[in-house]
Amino acid sequence: MENKKALIIGAGIAGLCMGIYLRKKGYETTILEMHTISGGLATAWKKKGYTFENCIHWLVGSKVGEQMNLMWKEVFDINQLKFYEDEIFQVIEKNDERLIIYRNADKLEAELLAKAPEDATAIKEFTGLVRLFSTFKFPDSDAFFSRMLYYVKIVKYLPAMNKYSKLTMADYAQRFKNPLLKHFFDSGIGELSLLAIVFSLAWMHNCDAGYPIGGSLKMIGLIEETYKKLGGEIKFRAKVKQIQVENNRAVGVVLENGEQIKADVVISAADGYATIYKMLEGKFVDNKINKIYETYKPFPSYVQVSFGVNDSFKDEPGFINILLDHEIEIDPETRMNNLSFRIFNYDPTFAPPGKTAIVCFIPTYNYEYWITLRENDNSLYADQKNKIAQEVIAIFEKRFPFAHDKIEVLDVATPATVFRYTGNWKASMEGWLLTPATGFGQLPATLPNLKNFYMVGQWISPGGGLPSGLLTARNVSKII
Ligand SMILES: Cc1cc2nc3c(=O)[nH]c(=O)nc-3n(C[C@H](O)[C@H](O)[C@H](O)COP(=O)(O)OP(=O)(O)OC[C@H]3O[C@@H](n4cnc5c(N)ncnc54)[C@H](O)[C@@H]3O)c2cc1C
Repeated sequence: MENKKALIIGAGIAGLCMGIYLRKKGYETTILEMHTISGGLATAWKKKGYTFENCIHWLVGSKVGEQMNLMWKEVFDINQLKFYEDEIFQVIEKNDERLIIYRNADKLEAELLAKAPEDATAIKEFTGLVRLFSTFKFPDSDAFFSRMLYYVKIVKYLPAMNKYSKLTMADYAQRFKNPLLKHFFDSGIGELSLLAIVFSLAWMHNCDAGYPIGGSLKMIGLIEETYKKLGGEIKFRAKVKQIQVENNRAVGVVLENGEQIKADVVISAADGYATIYKMLEGKFVDNKINKIYETYKPFPSYVQVSFGVNDSFKDEPGFINILLDHEIEIDPETRMNNLSFRIFNYDPTFAPPGKTAIVCFIPTYNYEYWITLRENDNSLYADQKNKIAQEVIAIFEKRFPFAHDKIEVLDVATPATVFRYTGNWKASMEGWLLTPATGFGQLPATLPNLKNFYMVGQWISPGGGLPSGLLTARNVSKII
Protein backbone atom coordinates (compact mmCIF):
# COMPACT_ATOMS: atom_id res chain seq x y z
CA MET A 1 0.00 0.00 0.00
CA GLU A 2 2.99 2.30 0.68
CA ASN A 3 3.25 2.95 -3.07
CA LYS A 4 -0.33 4.13 -3.47
CA LYS A 5 -0.49 7.89 -3.76
CA ALA A 6 -3.50 10.00 -2.74
CA LEU A 7 -3.96 13.68 -3.54
CA ILE A 8 -6.36 15.62 -1.33
CA ILE A 9 -7.60 19.03 -2.48
CA GLY A 10 -8.07 21.44 0.44
CA ALA A 11 -6.66 21.53 3.99
CA GLY A 12 -9.90 22.40 5.80
CA ILE A 13 -11.10 20.08 8.55
CA ALA A 14 -12.31 17.53 5.96
CA GLY A 15 -9.03 17.47 4.01
CA LEU A 16 -6.94 17.11 7.17
CA CYS A 17 -9.12 14.28 8.52
CA MET A 18 -8.99 12.57 5.12
CA GLY A 19 -5.20 12.80 5.15
CA ILE A 20 -5.01 11.25 8.62
CA TYR A 21 -7.32 8.33 7.82
CA LEU A 22 -5.45 7.56 4.58
CA ARG A 23 -2.01 7.82 6.19
CA LYS A 24 -3.21 5.34 8.81
CA LYS A 25 -4.14 3.00 5.97
CA GLY A 26 -0.67 3.34 4.48
CA TYR A 27 -1.34 5.72 1.59
CA GLU A 28 1.27 8.27 0.61
CA THR A 29 -0.71 11.53 0.94
CA THR A 30 -0.31 15.11 -0.20
CA ILE A 31 -2.83 17.79 0.68
CA LEU A 32 -2.92 20.65 -1.81
CA GLU A 33 -4.09 23.89 -0.19
CA MET A 34 -4.46 27.18 -2.07
CA HIS A 35 -4.12 29.29 1.09
CA THR A 36 -1.01 29.70 3.28
CA ILE A 37 -2.46 27.93 6.33
CA SER A 38 -4.76 24.98 7.07
CA GLY A 39 -8.30 25.32 8.40
CA GLY A 40 -10.44 26.70 5.58
CA LEU A 41 -13.52 28.15 7.27
CA ALA A 42 -12.31 26.88 10.64
CA THR A 43 -9.94 29.75 11.18
CA ALA A 44 -9.25 33.01 13.00
CA TRP A 45 -6.97 35.97 12.39
CA LYS A 46 -4.72 37.99 14.64
CA LYS A 47 -4.51 41.77 14.75
CA LYS A 48 -2.53 43.89 17.23
CA GLY A 49 -2.67 41.38 20.08
CA TYR A 50 -6.27 40.27 19.49
CA THR A 51 -7.48 37.06 17.83
CA PHE A 52 -10.75 37.23 15.89
CA GLU A 53 -12.49 33.87 15.66
CA ASN A 54 -14.27 33.03 12.40
CA CYS A 55 -15.88 29.75 13.27
CA ILE A 56 -16.27 27.66 16.40
CA HIS A 57 -19.21 28.50 18.66
CA TRP A 58 -19.35 24.92 19.85
CA LEU A 59 -17.69 21.63 19.02
CA VAL A 60 -19.87 18.54 19.10
CA GLY A 61 -17.83 15.81 20.82
CA SER A 62 -16.48 17.80 23.75
CA LYS A 63 -17.80 15.29 26.32
CA VAL A 64 -15.38 12.50 27.15
CA GLY A 65 -16.63 9.08 26.08
CA GLU A 66 -19.50 10.29 23.88
CA GLN A 67 -19.79 9.05 20.30
CA MET A 68 -18.29 12.09 18.54
CA ASN A 69 -15.59 12.47 21.20
CA LEU A 70 -14.38 8.94 20.46
CA MET A 71 -14.29 9.70 16.75
CA TRP A 72 -12.31 12.94 17.25
CA LYS A 73 -9.78 10.79 19.12
CA GLU A 74 -9.19 8.93 15.87
CA VAL A 75 -7.78 12.13 14.32
CA PHE A 76 -6.24 14.02 17.24
CA ASP A 77 -5.78 14.06 20.99
CA ILE A 78 -8.92 15.99 21.88
CA ASN A 79 -7.91 15.82 25.56
CA GLN A 80 -5.41 18.55 24.77
CA LEU A 81 -8.32 20.96 24.26
CA LYS A 82 -9.75 22.69 27.32
CA PHE A 83 -13.50 23.15 26.91
CA TYR A 84 -15.52 26.05 28.24
CA GLU A 85 -19.25 25.62 28.81
CA ASP A 86 -21.20 28.62 29.97
CA GLU A 87 -24.62 27.72 31.37
CA ILE A 88 -26.04 30.34 29.00
CA PHE A 89 -26.09 29.70 25.26
CA GLN A 90 -27.49 33.06 24.25
CA VAL A 91 -29.11 36.18 25.69
CA ILE A 92 -31.80 37.89 23.58
CA GLU A 93 -32.58 41.48 24.44
CA LYS A 94 -34.94 44.19 23.31
CA ASN A 95 -34.63 47.38 25.35
CA ASP A 96 -35.44 46.26 28.93
CA GLU A 97 -36.79 42.84 27.97
CA ARG A 98 -34.43 39.89 28.22
CA LEU A 99 -34.75 36.20 27.44
CA ILE A 100 -32.02 33.72 28.38
CA ILE A 101 -31.51 30.61 26.29
CA TYR A 102 -29.93 28.17 28.74
CA ARG A 103 -27.97 25.14 27.58
CA ASN A 104 -29.73 22.92 30.10
CA ALA A 105 -33.26 22.06 28.91
CA ASP A 106 -34.77 22.16 32.43
CA LYS A 107 -33.37 25.63 33.12
CA LEU A 108 -34.39 26.72 29.65
CA GLU A 109 -37.95 25.52 30.19
CA ALA A 110 -38.21 27.31 33.55
CA GLU A 111 -36.90 30.55 32.03
CA LEU A 112 -39.21 30.41 29.02
CA LEU A 113 -42.29 29.53 31.10
CA ALA A 114 -41.56 32.43 33.46
CA LYS A 115 -41.09 34.93 30.62
CA ALA A 116 -43.72 33.61 28.19
CA PRO A 117 -46.44 31.71 30.10
CA GLU A 118 -48.79 32.31 27.16
CA ASP A 119 -46.59 29.89 25.14
CA ALA A 120 -46.52 27.11 27.77
CA THR A 121 -47.70 24.31 25.47
CA ALA A 122 -45.23 25.06 22.69
CA ILE A 123 -42.39 25.62 25.19
CA LYS A 124 -42.93 22.21 26.81
CA GLU A 125 -43.13 20.54 23.42
CA PHE A 126 -39.84 22.14 22.37
CA THR A 127 -37.86 21.41 25.53
CA GLY A 128 -39.30 17.87 25.48
CA LEU A 129 -37.80 17.43 22.01
CA VAL A 130 -34.44 18.72 23.21
CA ARG A 131 -34.43 16.22 26.10
CA LEU A 132 -35.53 13.37 23.81
CA PHE A 133 -32.79 13.94 21.23
CA SER A 134 -30.06 14.48 23.83
CA THR A 135 -29.62 10.69 23.95
CA PHE A 136 -29.77 10.15 20.17
CA LYS A 137 -26.75 8.51 18.51
CA PHE A 138 -25.84 8.51 14.83
CA PRO A 139 -24.83 5.24 13.14
CA ASP A 140 -21.09 4.69 13.35
CA SER A 141 -20.65 1.32 11.73
CA ASP A 142 -21.78 -0.12 8.41
CA ALA A 143 -21.48 -3.71 9.62
CA PHE A 144 -24.78 -5.57 9.13
CA PHE A 145 -25.41 -6.51 12.78
CA SER A 146 -24.41 -3.07 14.07
CA ARG A 147 -26.87 -1.51 11.61
CA MET A 148 -29.70 -3.82 12.71
CA LEU A 149 -29.01 -3.10 16.37
CA TYR A 150 -28.88 0.61 15.58
CA TYR A 151 -32.32 0.55 13.94
CA VAL A 152 -33.80 -1.15 17.00
CA LYS A 153 -32.25 1.50 19.27
CA ILE A 154 -33.61 4.49 17.32
CA VAL A 155 -37.21 3.30 17.09
CA LYS A 156 -38.26 5.54 19.97
CA TYR A 157 -37.05 8.65 18.10
CA LEU A 158 -38.73 7.89 14.78
CA PRO A 159 -42.22 9.38 15.39
CA ALA A 160 -40.70 12.72 16.50
CA MET A 161 -38.16 12.63 13.65
CA ASN A 162 -40.89 12.03 11.16
CA LYS A 163 -43.16 14.75 12.50
CA TYR A 164 -40.65 17.54 13.13
CA SER A 165 -38.24 16.97 10.25
CA LYS A 166 -40.90 18.48 7.98
CA LEU A 167 -40.78 21.82 9.82
CA THR A 168 -38.47 24.79 9.35
CA MET A 169 -37.47 27.26 12.05
CA ALA A 170 -39.80 29.84 10.48
CA ASP A 171 -42.73 27.35 10.55
CA TYR A 172 -42.12 26.62 14.20
CA ALA A 173 -41.82 30.30 15.15
CA GLN A 174 -45.53 30.66 14.30
CA ARG A 175 -46.40 28.62 17.40
CA PHE A 176 -45.11 31.32 19.74
CA LYS A 177 -46.80 34.57 20.77
CA ASN A 178 -43.98 36.03 22.85
CA PRO A 179 -41.99 38.34 20.51
CA LEU A 180 -38.54 37.45 21.87
CA LEU A 181 -39.24 33.74 21.71
CA LYS A 182 -40.65 34.07 18.19
CA HIS A 183 -37.51 36.00 17.31
CA PHE A 184 -35.30 33.17 18.62
CA PHE A 185 -36.82 30.83 16.04
CA ASP A 186 -37.18 33.08 13.01
CA SER A 187 -34.49 35.75 13.27
CA GLY A 188 -31.69 33.60 11.87
CA ILE A 189 -32.09 31.39 8.85
CA GLY A 190 -35.83 30.72 8.57
CA GLU A 191 -35.49 27.83 6.07
CA LEU A 192 -33.23 25.86 8.41
CA SER A 193 -34.76 22.59 9.59
CA LEU A 194 -36.22 22.83 13.10
CA LEU A 195 -34.27 19.69 14.00
CA ALA A 196 -31.00 21.58 13.44
CA ILE A 197 -31.65 23.78 16.50
CA VAL A 198 -33.18 20.87 18.43
CA PHE A 199 -30.02 18.79 17.93
CA SER A 200 -27.73 21.72 18.76
CA LEU A 201 -29.54 22.35 22.05
CA ALA A 202 -29.72 18.59 22.72
CA TRP A 203 -25.92 18.33 22.45
CA MET A 204 -25.59 21.33 24.75
CA HIS A 205 -28.05 19.82 27.25
CA ASN A 206 -25.88 16.71 27.23
CA CYS A 207 -22.75 18.89 27.84
CA ASP A 208 -21.31 17.58 24.55
CA ALA A 209 -20.96 20.87 22.66
CA GLY A 210 -18.42 23.00 24.52
CA TYR A 211 -16.19 25.74 23.19
CA PRO A 212 -12.48 24.79 22.92
CA ILE A 213 -10.25 27.49 24.43
CA GLY A 214 -7.99 28.80 21.67
CA GLY A 215 -10.82 28.28 19.14
CA SER A 216 -10.30 27.13 15.57
CA LEU A 217 -6.57 27.81 15.34
CA LYS A 218 -5.86 25.64 18.38
CA MET A 219 -8.01 22.74 17.18
CA ILE A 220 -6.83 22.82 13.57
CA GLY A 221 -3.22 23.14 14.75
CA LEU A 222 -3.55 19.89 16.74
CA ILE A 223 -5.14 18.03 13.81
CA GLU A 224 -2.49 19.29 11.38
CA GLU A 225 0.18 18.18 13.87
CA THR A 226 -1.26 14.63 13.95
CA TYR A 227 -1.31 14.51 10.16
CA LYS A 228 2.32 15.64 9.89
CA LYS A 229 3.47 13.24 12.63
CA LEU A 230 1.95 10.43 10.57
CA GLY A 231 4.20 11.52 7.70
CA GLY A 232 1.58 13.38 5.65
CA GLU A 233 2.60 16.24 3.39
CA ILE A 234 0.82 19.58 2.85
CA LYS A 235 1.64 21.92 0.00
CA PHE A 236 0.46 25.48 0.58
CA ARG A 237 -0.15 28.08 -2.17
CA ALA A 238 -1.10 25.10 -4.34
CA LYS A 239 -4.40 25.94 -6.02
CA VAL A 240 -5.84 23.08 -8.05
CA LYS A 241 -7.17 24.18 -11.43
CA GLN A 242 -8.08 20.87 -12.97
CA ILE A 243 -8.53 17.24 -12.01
CA GLN A 244 -6.96 15.08 -14.69
CA VAL A 245 -8.99 12.15 -15.98
CA GLU A 246 -7.93 9.30 -18.28
CA ASN A 247 -10.35 6.57 -19.34
CA ASN A 248 -12.85 7.71 -16.73
CA ARG A 249 -10.28 7.46 -13.93
CA ALA A 250 -8.91 10.39 -11.94
CA VAL A 251 -5.14 10.23 -12.40
CA GLY A 252 -3.91 13.50 -10.91
CA VAL A 253 -4.32 17.27 -10.86
CA VAL A 254 -3.01 20.38 -12.57
CA LEU A 255 -2.22 23.36 -10.35
CA GLU A 256 -2.83 26.97 -11.34
CA ASN A 257 0.92 27.42 -11.89
CA GLY A 258 0.81 24.62 -14.47
CA GLU A 259 2.44 21.93 -12.32
CA GLN A 260 1.02 18.43 -12.87
CA ILE A 261 0.88 15.92 -10.02
CA LYS A 262 -0.04 12.28 -10.58
CA ALA A 263 -1.90 10.07 -8.09
CA ASP A 264 -3.74 6.76 -7.74
CA VAL A 265 -6.68 8.42 -6.07
CA VAL A 266 -7.89 12.04 -5.92
CA ILE A 267 -10.15 13.34 -3.14
CA SER A 268 -11.66 16.79 -3.20
CA ALA A 269 -12.19 18.34 0.23
CA ALA A 270 -12.72 21.72 -1.43
CA ASP A 271 -15.86 23.52 -2.58
CA GLY A 272 -18.39 21.20 -4.23
CA TYR A 273 -19.46 23.46 -7.10
CA ALA A 274 -15.87 24.33 -8.09
CA THR A 275 -14.89 20.66 -7.91
CA ILE A 276 -17.71 19.32 -10.06
CA TYR A 277 -18.26 22.13 -12.56
CA LYS A 278 -14.80 23.72 -12.84
CA MET A 279 -12.03 21.26 -11.89
CA LEU A 280 -13.96 18.45 -13.63
CA GLU A 281 -15.66 20.77 -16.17
CA GLY A 282 -19.13 19.37 -15.41
CA LYS A 283 -18.32 16.15 -17.31
CA PHE A 284 -19.25 13.74 -14.51
CA VAL A 285 -22.75 14.68 -13.47
CA ASP A 286 -26.22 13.23 -13.73
CA ASN A 287 -29.67 14.71 -13.23
CA LYS A 288 -29.50 14.12 -9.50
CA ILE A 289 -26.30 16.13 -9.06
CA ASN A 290 -27.44 18.93 -11.36
CA LYS A 291 -30.71 19.11 -9.48
CA ILE A 292 -28.92 19.41 -6.14
CA TYR A 293 -26.85 22.35 -7.37
CA GLU A 294 -29.93 23.94 -8.99
CA THR A 295 -32.36 23.55 -6.09
CA TYR A 296 -30.60 23.12 -2.73
CA LYS A 297 -29.93 26.34 -0.86
CA PRO A 298 -26.52 27.00 0.68
CA PHE A 299 -26.01 28.67 4.05
CA PRO A 300 -25.61 32.43 3.59
CA SER A 301 -22.32 34.28 3.49
CA TYR A 302 -21.54 36.96 6.06
CA VAL A 303 -20.01 40.26 7.00
CA GLN A 304 -18.00 39.98 10.20
CA VAL A 305 -17.18 43.10 12.21
CA SER A 306 -14.51 42.27 14.80
CA PHE A 307 -13.05 44.65 17.37
CA GLY A 308 -10.73 44.58 20.33
CA VAL A 309 -11.84 46.44 23.46
CA ASN A 310 -9.72 47.53 26.39
CA ASP A 311 -12.13 46.12 28.98
CA SER A 312 -12.57 42.72 30.60
CA PHE A 313 -16.38 42.53 30.06
CA LYS A 314 -16.44 40.67 33.37
CA ASP A 315 -19.92 39.32 34.18
CA GLU A 316 -21.27 40.20 30.73
CA PRO A 317 -22.86 37.47 28.57
CA GLY A 318 -20.62 35.64 26.10
CA PHE A 319 -23.22 35.73 23.33
CA ILE A 320 -25.88 38.40 23.02
CA ASN A 321 -28.49 39.08 20.36
CA ILE A 322 -29.83 42.63 20.40
CA LEU A 323 -33.13 43.45 18.69
CA LEU A 324 -32.93 46.91 17.16
CA ASP A 325 -35.51 49.71 17.19
CA HIS A 326 -34.69 50.44 13.54
CA GLU A 327 -33.33 48.32 10.70
CA ILE A 328 -29.80 48.90 9.48
CA GLU A 329 -28.70 48.42 5.88
CA ILE A 330 -25.75 46.07 5.39
CA ASP A 331 -25.82 46.09 1.59
CA PRO A 332 -28.51 46.94 -1.00
CA GLU A 333 -30.29 43.62 -0.40
CA THR A 334 -29.64 43.00 3.29
CA ARG A 335 -31.33 44.77 6.17
CA MET A 336 -30.95 43.64 9.78
CA ASN A 337 -33.36 44.18 12.66
CA ASN A 338 -31.01 42.47 15.14
CA LEU A 339 -27.29 42.01 15.72
CA SER A 340 -25.44 39.19 17.47
CA PHE A 341 -22.21 39.76 19.38
CA ARG A 342 -19.81 37.12 20.63
CA ILE A 343 -17.95 38.55 23.62
CA PHE A 344 -14.87 36.37 24.10
CA ASN A 345 -14.43 37.24 27.79
CA TYR A 346 -14.10 33.49 28.37
CA ASP A 347 -11.11 32.92 26.07
CA PRO A 348 -7.98 34.47 27.62
CA THR A 349 -5.90 33.47 24.58
CA PHE A 350 -7.78 35.94 22.35
CA ALA A 351 -6.72 39.22 23.98
CA PRO A 352 -4.13 40.65 26.37
CA PRO A 353 -5.15 40.51 30.08
CA GLY A 354 -8.08 42.80 30.92
CA LYS A 355 -9.03 43.17 27.24
CA THR A 356 -11.64 41.37 25.11
CA ALA A 357 -12.11 40.34 21.49
CA ILE A 358 -15.65 40.94 20.18
CA VAL A 359 -17.15 39.57 16.96
CA CYS A 360 -20.39 40.60 15.27
CA PHE A 361 -21.61 38.13 12.63
CA ILE A 362 -24.06 39.48 10.02
CA PRO A 363 -25.50 36.97 7.50
CA THR A 364 -26.08 38.06 3.89
CA TYR A 365 -26.94 36.28 0.65
CA ASN A 366 -25.73 39.28 -1.36
CA TYR A 367 -22.23 37.88 -1.91
CA GLU A 368 -22.06 39.11 -5.54
CA TYR A 369 -22.39 42.72 -4.42
CA TRP A 370 -19.38 42.43 -2.12
CA ILE A 371 -17.19 40.49 -4.54
CA THR A 372 -17.97 42.89 -7.40
CA LEU A 373 -17.50 45.96 -5.21
CA ARG A 374 -14.07 44.80 -4.08
CA GLU A 375 -13.02 44.01 -7.65
CA ASN A 376 -14.30 47.25 -9.19
CA ASP A 377 -13.90 49.93 -6.56
CA ASN A 378 -11.57 49.24 -3.70
CA SER A 379 -12.06 52.65 -2.11
CA LEU A 380 -15.87 52.35 -2.11
CA TYR A 381 -15.45 48.82 -0.73
CA ALA A 382 -13.36 50.20 2.15
CA ASP A 383 -15.91 53.00 2.77
CA GLN A 384 -18.77 50.52 2.84
CA LYS A 385 -16.93 48.30 5.32
CA ASN A 386 -16.21 51.30 7.52
CA LYS A 387 -19.81 52.52 7.38
CA ILE A 388 -21.11 49.17 8.62
CA ALA A 389 -18.43 48.97 11.30
CA GLN A 390 -19.42 52.40 12.67
CA GLU A 391 -23.11 51.44 12.79
CA VAL A 392 -22.32 48.16 14.54
CA ILE A 393 -20.08 49.90 17.06
CA ALA A 394 -22.72 52.56 17.79
CA ILE A 395 -25.23 49.80 18.62
CA PHE A 396 -22.68 47.96 20.73
CA GLU A 397 -21.69 51.09 22.66
CA LYS A 398 -25.32 51.97 23.30
CA ARG A 399 -25.73 48.57 25.00
CA PHE A 400 -22.32 48.64 26.69
CA PRO A 401 -21.68 52.37 27.35
CA PHE A 402 -18.53 51.60 29.37
CA ALA A 403 -16.89 50.38 26.12
CA HIS A 404 -17.05 53.89 24.63
CA ASP A 405 -13.59 55.10 23.58
CA LYS A 406 -12.04 51.76 24.54
CA ILE A 407 -12.07 50.16 21.09
CA GLU A 408 -8.47 49.84 19.99
CA VAL A 409 -8.61 47.50 16.99
CA LEU A 410 -11.18 47.13 14.22
CA ASP A 411 -11.46 44.58 11.42
CA VAL A 412 -14.16 43.94 8.82
CA ALA A 413 -14.39 40.78 6.70
CA THR A 414 -17.00 40.44 3.94
CA PRO A 415 -18.21 37.70 1.59
CA ALA A 416 -15.35 38.78 -0.72
CA THR A 417 -12.95 37.78 2.07
CA VAL A 418 -14.68 34.43 2.63
CA PHE A 419 -14.57 33.61 -1.08
CA ARG A 420 -10.94 34.69 -1.48
CA TYR A 421 -9.74 32.59 1.42
CA THR A 422 -11.86 29.44 1.08
CA GLY A 423 -13.27 29.36 -2.46
CA ASN A 424 -16.67 28.31 -1.13
CA TRP A 425 -19.56 28.62 -3.57
CA LYS A 426 -21.51 31.83 -3.06
CA ALA A 427 -19.05 32.50 -0.22
CA SER A 428 -21.22 30.22 1.90
CA MET A 429 -20.39 29.86 5.59
CA GLU A 430 -21.24 26.17 5.90
CA GLY A 431 -22.23 24.42 2.65
CA TRP A 432 -25.80 23.22 2.19
CA LEU A 433 -28.51 24.39 4.55
CA LEU A 434 -30.12 21.51 6.41
CA THR A 435 -33.76 21.80 5.36
CA PRO A 436 -36.80 19.49 5.28
CA ALA A 437 -35.92 18.92 1.59
CA THR A 438 -32.29 17.85 2.14
CA GLY A 439 -32.91 15.61 5.16
CA PHE A 440 -30.04 14.36 7.32
CA GLY A 441 -28.44 11.88 4.92
CA GLN A 442 -25.08 12.41 3.24
CA LEU A 443 -24.91 13.07 -0.51
CA PRO A 444 -22.91 10.66 -2.69
CA ALA A 445 -19.14 10.85 -2.21
CA THR A 446 -18.52 9.70 -5.79
CA LEU A 447 -19.49 11.05 -9.21
CA PRO A 448 -21.08 9.05 -12.03
CA ASN A 449 -18.64 7.36 -14.44
CA LEU A 450 -15.56 8.56 -12.59
CA LYS A 451 -13.32 6.06 -10.83
CA ASN A 452 -10.61 6.78 -8.24
CA PHE A 453 -12.26 10.03 -7.26
CA TYR A 454 -14.15 11.00 -4.05
CA MET A 455 -15.56 14.07 -2.36
CA VAL A 456 -15.59 14.84 1.37
CA GLY A 457 -16.58 17.78 3.56
CA GLN A 458 -19.54 20.08 4.02
CA TRP A 459 -20.73 19.97 0.39
CA ILE A 460 -21.69 16.31 0.68
CA SER A 461 -23.17 16.68 4.15
CA PRO A 462 -26.13 19.08 4.41
CA GLY A 463 -25.87 21.07 7.62
CA GLY A 464 -22.06 21.19 7.37
CA GLY A 465 -20.10 21.81 10.56
CA LEU A 466 -16.78 20.48 11.79
CA PRO A 467 -18.09 16.96 12.49
CA SER A 468 -19.15 16.69 8.84
CA GLY A 469 -15.48 16.96 7.86
CA LEU A 470 -14.51 14.05 10.07
CA LEU A 471 -17.56 11.88 9.34
CA THR A 472 -17.36 12.18 5.55
CA ALA A 473 -13.59 11.52 5.55
CA ARG A 474 -14.09 8.51 7.83
CA ASN A 475 -16.72 7.06 5.48
CA VAL A 476 -14.66 7.66 2.34
CA SER A 477 -11.56 6.11 3.90
CA LYS A 478 -13.62 2.96 4.49
CA ILE A 479 -14.84 2.93 0.88
CA ILE A 480 -11.30 3.40 -0.43
C1 LIG B 1 -19.23 31.96 11.10
C2 LIG B 1 -19.15 30.48 11.16
C3 LIG B 1 -19.47 29.82 12.33
C4 LIG B 1 -19.40 28.42 12.39
N1 LIG B 1 -19.62 27.81 13.58
C5 LIG B 1 -19.43 26.46 13.68
C6 LIG B 1 -19.52 25.83 14.94
O1 LIG B 1 -19.74 26.44 15.97
N2 LIG B 1 -19.34 24.47 14.99
C7 LIG B 1 -19.10 23.74 13.86
O2 LIG B 1 -18.97 22.51 13.97
N3 LIG B 1 -19.02 24.33 12.64
C8 LIG B 1 -19.16 25.67 12.53
N4 LIG B 1 -19.03 26.29 11.31
C9 LIG B 1 -18.95 25.47 10.07
C10 LIG B 1 -17.57 24.91 9.80
O3 LIG B 1 -16.59 25.90 9.92
C11 LIG B 1 -17.54 24.36 8.36
O4 LIG B 1 -18.69 23.61 8.06
C12 LIG B 1 -16.30 23.45 8.17
O5 LIG B 1 -15.15 24.10 8.66
C13 LIG B 1 -16.15 23.11 6.67
O6 LIG B 1 -14.99 22.34 6.49
P1 LIG B 1 -14.57 21.76 5.06
O7 LIG B 1 -13.23 21.17 5.24
O8 LIG B 1 -15.68 20.93 4.53
O9 LIG B 1 -14.51 23.03 4.07
P2 LIG B 1 -13.57 24.33 4.10
O10 LIG B 1 -13.32 24.76 5.49
O11 LIG B 1 -14.21 25.31 3.19
O12 LIG B 1 -12.19 23.84 3.50
C14 LIG B 1 -11.94 23.76 2.12
C15 LIG B 1 -10.46 24.03 1.89
O13 LIG B 1 -10.19 23.84 0.51
C16 LIG B 1 -9.32 24.87 0.06
N5 LIG B 1 -9.52 24.99 -1.38
C17 LIG B 1 -10.63 25.41 -2.03
N6 LIG B 1 -10.46 25.36 -3.37
C18 LIG B 1 -9.20 24.90 -3.56
C19 LIG B 1 -8.43 24.62 -4.73
N7 LIG B 1 -8.92 24.82 -5.96
N8 LIG B 1 -7.16 24.17 -4.57
C20 LIG B 1 -6.62 23.98 -3.33
N9 LIG B 1 -7.32 24.24 -2.20
C21 LIG B 1 -8.59 24.68 -2.31
C22 LIG B 1 -9.76 26.08 0.86
O14 LIG B 1 -8.75 27.09 0.89
C23 LIG B 1 -10.04 25.45 2.22
O15 LIG B 1 -8.89 25.44 3.03
C24 LIG B 1 -19.06 27.68 11.23
C25 LIG B 1 -18.71 28.35 10.05
C26 LIG B 1 -18.73 29.73 10.03
C27 LIG B 1 -18.29 30.44 8.79
